[in-house]
Formats: sequence, structure tokens, C-alpha cells
Amino acid sequence: MRKKIVAGNWKMNTGKQEALQLVQDVLSSLSPLAAHQHLVFCPPFVHISSIQEVLRSGKSSNVHLGAQNCHDKASGAYTGEVSIPMLRDYGVDHVIIGHSERRQYFNESNEFIRTKVDALLAEGMRVLFCCGEPLEIRESGTQNEWVKKQLEESVFHLSPEQMKQGIIIAYEPIWAIGTGKTASSEQAQEMHAFIRHIVRTHFGESVADELSILYGGSCNAGNAAELFACPDVDGGLIGGAALKAETFLPIVAALR
Ligand code: PEP
Repeated sequence: MRKKIVAGNWKMNTGKQEALQLVQDVLSSLSPLAAHQHLVFCPPFVHISSIQEVLRSGKSSNVHLGAQNCHDKASGAYTGEVSIPMLRDYGVDHVIIGHSERRQYFNESNEFIRTKVDALLAEGMRVLFCCGEPLEIRESGTQNEWVKKQLEESVFHLSPEQMKQGIIIAYEPIWAIGTGKTASSEQAQEMHAFIRHIVRTHFGESVADELSILYGGSCNAGNAAELFACPDVDGGLIGGAALKAETFLPIVAALR
């Protein structure tokens, strides 16, 4: 059975106390997760160490620590960057790559993202690979081509085995991120089915069947159940609604 996942992307939010409180509040009210259900916290780098301590004390093996970015080199003169081995030392096993905010504000290209994907897989990490189109592309009806190119240029060089072990896709239409404008369940299902179809064509049946494809973009307690009920939507990557236990927990509870 493929994994169903909710990942919270806290972005550049939360002070230290707030971050600790948030993770404690979520864990203390979290209903038991089934074997195929996974929860990933992706706090800012500076909170990873203290959150690792909280997770260690009550950790279920289905609760993971994620990072929002990494550098592709293991060490060196890259001021301000954080490497994959450093993250692994703190218990991080998932990393968000290709988020639209990194593409937009930090000029991350498909080619650069590919180097990070390769480096992460070489270190045994799981990649939360983000893709998704801007509004003008959606309005022109060419969103499938846009997303296909992102996948082709950053993950389609992988082997089926690497794909199976290391890649989770997050479809995040840019017009839905942080805007309060969610993709309809029909729009989400259509794109997720398309992604699974091109993965099937390129990597084969079993990779496509096992691939978790998450939806991201103004997902909240009110729409998560409908989105997660779509046959090709395997959970969500959650931004704003991940910042409070009371808005995040109902989304986790909507996992099937
Ligand atoms: C995100 O940035 O990954 C995201 C999905 O944000 P939001 O839920 O706030 O739209």
C-alpha cells in the first residue's frame, strides 16, 4: 500500500518556544497513525535540533523530521548553507526540494534542483519534490506540459529503484500557495493522475503505483478530506495551516 503523508512546511516562521510548543501540541493530540500513514515536520533549520529532542522522547516511527532545503555539496566554502550530512546528524530524513518559493526568490533552476535530488538520494534521504505551475500557465491550459518539464529535468533521470525509495512528489500550483485559493478536488485529481501516468510511462507500473503524490496549496481543515479522498492524492504538503495544532491536526486526521 502506498504511503499517505502529511508534511508541515513551516517556512520562515516560529520562534524557538513557539516551535517547541507547536510540535508538542501536535504530538500530544495526535491520533495513532496507521502503518501506511506518515507525518513530517519541516521546521526552519535553527529549530531542528530541539525538535529532534522532542521527537526522540515520544517518537513514533511514522513521525519524521524534515528540512526545507539543503546544499548539494557535503561541506566547503558555501557561506550560509547547510549540508545533507549535517541534517542527517540531527535525525532529518526528508528534505523539501524545488519549492516554488526557492525557485522564485533564490533562482533555483530545474538543473540545480536535480543536483540536490541526486545528492539527497546518494545520502539515503527522502525527497519531497515540489512541482506546479504559475497562474498564467494554468490560464493558458498548458499546466501539464509545465509540470512534465519540471519532472523530466529534475527526476526522470533516476532509476526506478531510486524513484521508489526516495521520491515523494508534491504538486503545488503556485496560484494556490498561501493565497487561500485551493485547487478544486477535480483539478488536483486531474494533475495527480497525469503525474502518475507519466511516471508509469517512464518508470513502469510498480513505481507509479507506489509513488506518493501530495497536494499543496491552501489545503486546510475544511478541504483536506475532499482532496485526500481523490484516488491519486496521497496527502498534503501544508504551509499556513501547519503553524497551529488546531488547524494542522484535522488535516492529519483526514489522511486515509
Ligand atoms: C507550501 O508553501 O508548501 C504551501 C502549501 O503553503 P500553503 O499551505 O500556505 O498554501
